[in-house]
Amino acid sequence: MRILGIETSCDETAAAVVTDAGAGSARILAHTVRAQLAEHAPYGGVVPEIAARAHLDFLDDVIRATLAAAGLGLGDLDGIAATAGPGLIGGVMVGATTAKALSLVSRLPFMAVNHLEAHALTVRLTDDVPFPYLLLLISGGHCQLLIVEGVGRYVRLGTTIDDAVGEAFDKTAKLLGLGHPGGPAVERAAASGDPERFSLPRPMVGRPGCDFSFSGLKTAVRQACAGLAPDDGQAIHDLAASFQQAVADSLADRCRRAADIFRERCPGGRHLVVAGGVAANGAIRAALSAVAARAGLALAAPPPALCTDNGAMVAWAGLERLRLGLVDPLDFAARPRWPLDAAAPKAAFAGV
Ligand code: ATP
Ligand code: MG
Ligand code: FE
Repeated sequence: MRILGIETSCDETAAAVVTDAGAGSARILAHTVRAQLAEHAPYGGVVPEIAARAHLDFLDDVIRATLAAAGLGLGDLDGIAATAGPGLIGGVMVGATTAKALSLVSRLPFMAVNHLEAHALTVRLTDDVPFPYLLLLISGGHCQLLIVEGVGRYVRLGTTIDDAVGEAFDKTAKLLGLGHPGGPAVERAAASGDPERFSLPRPMVGRPGCDFSFSGLKTAVRQACAGLAPDDGQAIHDLAASFQQAVADSLADRCRRAADIFRERCPGGRHLVVAGGVAANGAIRAALSAVAARAGLALAAPPPALCTDNGAMVAWAGLERLRLGLVDPLDFAARPRWPLDAAAPKAAFAGV
């Protein structure tokens, strides 16, 4: 089975063709990511209207280049998937409408993919990870712990009560003058920093439940920043490292609790999976790997390049859905908000 996937929910215009034949990254027959860094740089963050227009400008070329790199035409595909939410609605509409048009002219099934489900299932594209698994989804807009029982079957154990973790990385980067996107910049700066120099709060650590909070940590970083001596260049690195360690400790504590619940509810489950853009972070992966080992689980994560937004994850989620007959009608409306645990399997739709 070969599926074209389209991702336009934020500031990456991306497309990919994936197959379920073979194994590992070889299943990605071609993929293209056109980031919009220059377009948004003057504003210090993503401007929704500029993103939507840029997707409109780039998407046709991105799809053409992807199909050409795979050496395939529309007629060689089995289906077309696009992110249909949640995300910046203008961009989501550009991607979903393009996918619908391609589906109409090629008479291929259309899959409206939940962007969070795409993050959640990506690990199964490159690794052999069976259901059920415990998922820590850490991205630019989300921070959740879920039990993934199957395609479209998610049980939420916890979520952030304020900021998403990627947002905290991006704000910290801004405070430290490290630019956008913040996560990779903070990780680079932290590599030569002392994580113990600044004593920052460990939000939620020791509290019951599996919820997260990052706004207090953000405030602590802001206060530490304000107290820095202007000639202390090393302080930027030390503060980045201290922040990253505080996040890793907080995520690890929440995952320990979730792992207890997971093992009780799903005794056959073997994996802790981490996904979403922040899952690219090496220090966080290391902390989670220790948690998983202590809980008798294996840590699984997509390769770093598949953690941040890309077309392959959307194509793969579409493929998993098509295998179950979960096809969507062409009047499926793009959704700005679309919680994952409400993404129940929809009735199979015969043809388009
Ligand atoms: P969502 O998936 O919640 O809709 P999004 O699609 O905008 O949000 P992703 O692309 O999944 O988010 O992830 C982007 C986020 O990941 C950004 O906040 C970015 O700073 C963060 N990020 C990327 N790489 C790293 C890294 N190495 N360390 C920490 N954070 C990172
Ligand atoms: Mg992005
Ligand atoms: Fe994302």
